[in-house]
Amino acid sequence: MASPEFKLIETYFKNLTQKDDSVLVGIGDDAAVIEYQPGHNIVVCVDTLVAGIHFPLEAPVDSIGYKSLAVNISDMAAMGATPKWATLALTLPENDNNWLKEFSSGFAEIAGQYGISLIGGDTTKGPLTISVQLMGVVEKGKEVTRSGAEIGDLICVTGNLGDASVGLSVFQNKIQLSNKEKEYYVNRLNCPTPRLNFSRKCTEFIKSAIDISDGLGADLNHILESSSNGNKLGAKIIVEDIPANDYLLSLPLEERLKHQAFFGDDYELCFTADKKNLKQIMACAEETKTKVTVIGEIADVPGIVFQDKLSDFIDTKLKGYDHFYV
Ligand code: ADP
Ligand code: MG
Repeated sequence: MASPEFKLIETYFKNLTQKDDSVLVGIGDDAAVIEYQPGHNIVVCVDTLVAGIHFPLEAPVDSIGYKSLAVNISDMAAMGATPKWATLALTLPENDNNWLKEFSSGFAEIAGQYGISLIGGDTTKGPLTISVQLMGVVEKGKEVTRSGAEIGDLICVTGNLGDASVGLSVFQNKIQLSNKEKEYYVNRLNCPTPRLNFSRKCTEFIKSAIDISDGLGADLNHILESSSNGNKLGAKIIVEDIPANDYLLSLPLEERLKHQAFFGDDYELCFTADKKNLKQIMACAEETKTKVTVIGEIADVPGIVFQDKLSDFIDTKLKGYDHFYV
């Protein structure tokens, strides 16, 4: 008789995603075997979602499945890579069929959208934790890293920033909005859109990129640190130019900035590019129906300066999300 663990894998995961010819051995053996594509580099990332930290305990279960893969696809987008194969390490408090059904349907939905195959994983019992590892490919030498930014580069972001932060405030009943608005923001928190289609079109026009998981302030800082060799780079950001939805636009700038730059979870891309490429970048944006906005410039004075259009400095004293800040 099949063990409960084996049955769980058979029922919910074995045939969850599309068949892919590059998967020579998939779920069911000691390890998966995938075919190497000549002329390409392999790109690998992993992200863990811990219940109560990366998603609210009351989040719809299908959205947990969706988000666990979405955040990894977002990393692939930041690298200019194409995701292809995923493994899933699930730690579950109990073998709950309803939970597994919803979780796997959310996972399958986004895997289908981006042509990703689930090729293996691990299933254990314990406090709810979900780790997804994603592997992808990029043409040799075409990967986009955090370290290519240079003084004078434009700083751009995709989408609107701050939606996930507002979504969490809604979840915690901290702000009052119409039901329709609430639904929108909570959905942005639970089901972020990885900007993969845009990034795949645009890699040749951009010099550095990161996906915004810990807040614009923290993540842009990673670009600055990685790109500095010898002389430290800085950035000037015009706060009014950071793209925002209606609720955020109605707030005072300092308040708005807290949501937009010092909370994470938006999974938009922040990237830098030479000014001369702006036209091509906007063409890629239009072609992939992705909003792209220039929000500032890489500068030679270290640190990130948030200022308003009148050049008044906005003092934030805020940090991005870090699990180990005390
Ligand atoms: P092993 O004991 O050799 O680590 P397991 O018995 O844990 O293997 O897993 C059996 C097969 O099922 C393996 O191919 C493994 O990759 C796959 N698998 C286990 N858990 C999951 C999961 N949550 N999602 C997808 N595949 C899984
Ligand atoms: Mg195992």
